[in-house]
Amino acid sequence: MRNFFKDVPEHLWRDYKWQVQNRIKTKEELKRYIKLLPEEEEGIDRTKGIYPMAITPHYLSLIDPEDPQDPIRLQAIPRAVEMDKELQEKGQENPFNEESLIPGLTHRYPDRVLLNLTTFCAVYCRHCMRKRIFLEGERARTKQEIDLMLNYIRENPQIREVILSGGEPLSLSNEKLNYILSELRKIDHVELIRIHTRLLVLAPQRFFEEELLDILERHSPIWIMTHFNHPREISPESEEAVEKLLRRGVPVNNQAVLLKGINDDPEVMLKLSRELLRIKVRPVYLFHADPIKGAMHFRTSIEAGLRIIEYMRGRISGMGIPTYAVDLPGGKGKVPILPEYLVEKRQDNVYIFRSPFGSFVEYRL
Ligand SMILES: *Cc1c(COP(=O)(O)O)cnc(C)c1O
Repeated sequence: MRNFFKDVPEHLWRDYKWQVQNRIKTKEELKRYIKLLPEEEEGIDRTKGIYPMAITPHYLSLIDPEDPQDPIRLQAIPRAVEMDKELQEKGQENPFNEESLIPGLTHRYPDRVLLNLTTFCAVYCRHCMRKRIFLEGERARTKQEIDLMLNYIRENPQIREVILSGGEPLSLSNEKLNYILSELRKIDHVELIRIHTRLLVLAPQRFFEEELLDILERHSPIWIMTHFNHPREISPESEEAVEKLLRRGVPVNNQAVLLKGINDDPEVMLKLSRELLRIKVRPVYLFHADPIKGAMHFRTSIEAGLRIIEYMRGRISGMGIPTYAVDLPGGKGKVPILPEYLVEKRQDNVYIFRSPFGSFVEYRL
C-alpha cells in the first residue's frame, strides 16, 4: 500500500529511473508529505552539504506519517542529533581504515576484496557506515579508476571473491556494470562475485529491468547481499524483485544493522527474519552498529544484540538466525558474538549445555 503518490501511474511507479529522478531532497519537498518534527527540520538544515538527504518515493511511501518514531523515517530523515558535538567527537569517519593505494579498493582478507564503485545512493541512510563519502557528491568511478582496481585483482591470485559496493553499486549504468563483470569473469582466480546493494529496500524497481537481470544471469555465480533492517521495509515490490533475481539464479542474502529505536527489539528482529525467509532471503548477519561519526546515536549495547539472538533461538528455524558480529576497529576483521550455550566442562568427557528453552543438559562423549 502506498501512503503517498497514490496518483502516480503504475508504469512510472515501477520505473527505477522515475524513482531516482523523483527523489525528495529538500525540506520543502518533504513537508508536502510529512509534518516534520522540529528536530527533523533542524537536522535537515544542519546536515546540509555534510550528510545530504535523498529519499526515493518508494521508500518514503513506506513511512507511517503519524508515527514520529517510524523505523523508516528514522533511517531516512536527518535529525539534529546527527550533528551533536559530543557524539560527533566520539565517532570516527573511517574507523576501519578502508581503502588503499588504489582509490576505492579495500583488501582486508586475503581471499576477498571490496570495491567502492560510486558515492551515489538511492537513499542516504542516516546510519550509513560510509557517511564520509557523502561529502564527495554523487560520483561514479571513472573507467580509469575501475581499470586500476581490475589490474590489482588480476595481479593478486589469492583473491577468490570480489565484492561490489559503494554507495550503491547497482546505480552504475548497465554498460559500466557489464564491463566490470565481464572483465572480472576473464580472471581465472575470481570465483565469486558479490554485490552489496540496498536497492531491494530503497528502489526495488531496478530489478524490474530485464536488461539488468540478463547481465546478472550472464556472469553467474553472482550473490546479492542486501540490507533490510525492519520488517516494514519488505514491500510487495521487494518481494517481486527477489523472485525475479532467484529465477535468474542469483541468491539473495541479508545483513542487518542493530539500530537503537529502529530494530533493537527481539520481537522486531524475529519478525524481520520470518518475513525474510518467507520471501526467500537468508538473514546472514546482524552487525553491531559501527562507531561512525554522525551515526553514534544509533548504537546500542552489545548485550542488546545478544538478547535478540538468544530470543530467536528456538523460535525460528536455524537458517533464520543471523550471526551477530562486530567489525573490529582499524580493519582487524569481523568477529561473531554468541550467547554462551556450553556452560561447563566436568571431567574429561562431560559437558553441560544450556538448552534454547532454559534447562541445563548433560552431554557425554
Ligand atoms: C565486511 C567486509 C568483507 C566481507 O566480509 P564477509 O564476512 O565475507 O561478509 C570483505 N572485505 C571488507 C573490507 C569488509 O569490510
